[in-house]
Amino acid sequence: LDHSKRNGRNRLTFYEKGMRLHEMRELDLIEQLRYSIEHDFIGFALHFQPQVDANTKQIVGAEALARWKSDIYGNVPPLIFIPLLEKSGLINEAGKWIFQKAVQYCKEMTTILPTFCVSINLSYIQLSDLQFLAFMQQVLKEEMIDPSHIIVEMTESYMVKNDDMQQTLFHKIRALGIRIAMDDFGTGFSSLGVLKKAPADIVKIDKVFMKDVLTSNFDATFIRFIVTLCHDVNIKVLLEGVETKEEYEKVKTMGLDYIQGYYFGKPQPFQQFKKNCENNTSDV
Ligand code: C2E
Ligand code: MG
Ligand code: MG
Ligand code: MG
Repeated sequence: LDHSKRNGRNRLTFYEKGMRLHEMRELDLIEQLRYSIEHDFIGFALHFQPQVDANTKQIVGAEALARWKSDIYGNVPPLIFIPLLEKSGLINEAGKWIFQKAVQYCKEMTTILPTFCVSINLSYIQLSDLQFLAFMQQVLKEEMIDPSHIIVEMTESYMVKNDDMQQTLFHKIRALGIRIAMDDFGTGFSSLGVLKKAPADIVKIDKVFMKDVLTSNFDATFIRFIVTLCHDVNIKVLLEGVETKEEYEKVKTMGLDYIQGYYFGKPQPFQQFKKNCENNTSDV
């Protein structure tokens, strides 16, 4: 591919004949992601979505969620661009940027809420990069932040892989003082026995269980059951996807530790998130 022709009309002629349209579009998006990354992450942003205490409804932290706006396509959802970053190997560099930004923002937040925690999504690719561990350690040192403020999220399906090297890595991450959250819990087709061995401090119940929670006895029972099981083995539970007051009323007696969902706030650009928190804390 000829990088100098980036914005030229001829760009598509560089692709091989016979490629399907979605493959060309993927390559095109990857080239644009690469361009953004090479130009100081232009178009990238990190939004914060509040995580609240399930009982007091007070903000205890936020999940950091990556956003990317391409010149040509506009806002591209993370469910599209994260897999492309993974496929192209760019996730290592992007993941470092995300981690560092998230930690900096978290540090800023602790001036308003001293116990504030940030939850950062990690890709399975980043975890096969052994230098990432050293990188995390270095960032925490540079930012002079206690690791107890940092949580890393990994998907359930990745965490249950029975790979010695990974298990060692999880233990090393926890040895740094960083906590681990198991993301998308309940969607990974694994048995509940994973909770016995998983090095997780927090389980995040996937938002699919909120979809029919008002009408489905199964979903409500599942959530209560997971809370009981996790608390027995000292794991905290966060429920994702609470969107309405009615849903909150339904789940608030289920013994959950934390809740994250549109009802308590959508992902927001960091400066806006911070401003909202400042206004809320000065009100009380
Ligand atoms: P996730 O880690 O499970 O993040 C939660 C997703 O649920 C976010 O979608 C969030 O906006 C959405 N969400 C939160 N509350 C609600 C709600 O009440 N209702 C509904 N319908 N949705 C809600 P988002 O931001 O589009 O991210 C999608 C996925 O992309 C994430 O799922 C995560 O797997 C991935 N992702 C996002 N940012 C990053 C990142 O910085 N690094 C990595 N590796 N993956 C990321
Ligand atoms: Mg997550
Ligand atoms: Mg999740
Ligand atoms: Mg998810």
